[in-house]
Amino acid sequence: MILQTIFSQTKTLARTARLSTGVLRPTFSLATTLQQRANSTAAAASTFRAADLEKSPSTQLKELVPNQDLIFGHTFTDNMLMVEWDVEKGWGKPVIKPYGKIAIEPSSVVLHYSFECFEGMKAYKDKQGRVRLFRPDLNMQRLNRSSERLTLPNFDGNELTECIKELLRTDDRWIPSDRGYSLYIRPTVIGTSEFIGVGPSDRAMLFVICCPVGPYYKTGFKAVSLQATVDKVRAWPGGTGDSKIGGNYAPGILPQINAMKKGFQQNLWLFGEDHQITEVGTMNCFVFLENEQGEKELVTPPLNGMILPGVTRDSILSLAREWNEFKVSERKITMSEIVKAEKDGRLIEMFGTGTACVVSPIKMIGYEGKEIHVPLDPKDPNTQAGPLTKRLNDTLLAIQYGEIEHPWSVLV
Ligand SMILES: *Cc1c(COP(=O)(O)O)cnc(C)c1O
Repeated sequence: MILQTIFSQTKTLARTARLSTGVLRPTFSLATTLQQRANSTAAAASTFRAADLEKSPSTQLKELVPNQDLIFGHTFTDNMLMVEWDVEKGWGKPVIKPYGKIAIEPSSVVLHYSFECFEGMKAYKDKQGRVRLFRPDLNMQRLNRSSERLTLPNFDGNELTECIKELLRTDDRWIPSDRGYSLYIRPTVIGTSEFIGVGPSDRAMLFVICCPVGPYYKTGFKAVSLQATVDKVRAWPGGTGDSKIGGNYAPGILPQINAMKKGFQQNLWLFGEDHQITEVGTMNCFVFLENEQGEKELVTPPLNGMILPGVTRDSILSLAREWNEFKVSERKITMSEIVKAEKDGRLIEMFGTGTACVVSPIKMIGYEGKEIHVPLDPKDPNTQAGPLTKRLNDTLLAIQYGEIEHPWSVLV
């Protein structure tokens, strides 16, 4: 349906182009692609199917890397999953094949206009050696939404989950079994159209690669200090900050490096004249405080288009609401509210959340030349995380590793 809308908009564009010769000519090719897309949707396969999965896995198995030597995102398993799409035929058959280089033309649109979106999820091995995913349906929905935002093709999320399960069975020996270790899964969709016109891609590739990863904190929590970035923004209303698309990330690195140069570990993204808190680096942000009404409240910014809808964020909100021990709010929170809460001694804890770390405790924010100190555990000066941060982390890990039976944990 989204293509139909674009198509009708483009017809108008094409008409404009016809009126003014030359300058707008490229829109004719855009219109042609869209016309092709509109014509072919009926015949093209609207999804791939796990039942069609073809397997030609690697026969030269790599040497496993010992757990203690794992560096996040550096080691890849023996195999990967690949599915190709084109506008005429739709999705092809999914294939499991050896992890390796992919061939794309230098003209591929992914290399020019960032037709790329991705996911980050993990497979966990429980005490019985069974492999588990955590809420994979949410990752599939989000990948489809990101894809749609870039006019890349959609697919049936259950089918991709089933294909990923088969990839996990194939690469089972790479899934670490120690608690805290897991296999990070990176589904990716790219546009591979081979003409450098700015229009929807008539070809795409979906692939899934996996890497064994260690616990984010090898020797217990390490709280981070943040620099509030006031000169650059990550996302804005109507922008793409709520999609996991590659184009959002490269521009975020410079502010992070600037924060690091000043001695901070991460940056805190703000938005607007009133310096609303949005995200921490590439994590969602939570603030636990006593509000001006004297209530304990866990606050995270609302999904207003500027916030990536994190699976961890959603899970933490659900758990906290279920516990029903304090107020839980998705609302705007500004730096001035944080500054005032700290001054009044009402700031209790702050943390970032994401699949890679689960929770990342925050100890300090550098903001407009001043330091805002965030308490960790007042009862234990040696610990690097507050009691709520720890409890949320422990509960989520217990669910992910199947120690607590929970519908969020899906057996492979
Ligand atoms: C992936 C991501 C998150 C965290 O999402 P999870 O689903 O919890 O891993 C938060 N913010 C940004 C910008 C992200 O890319």
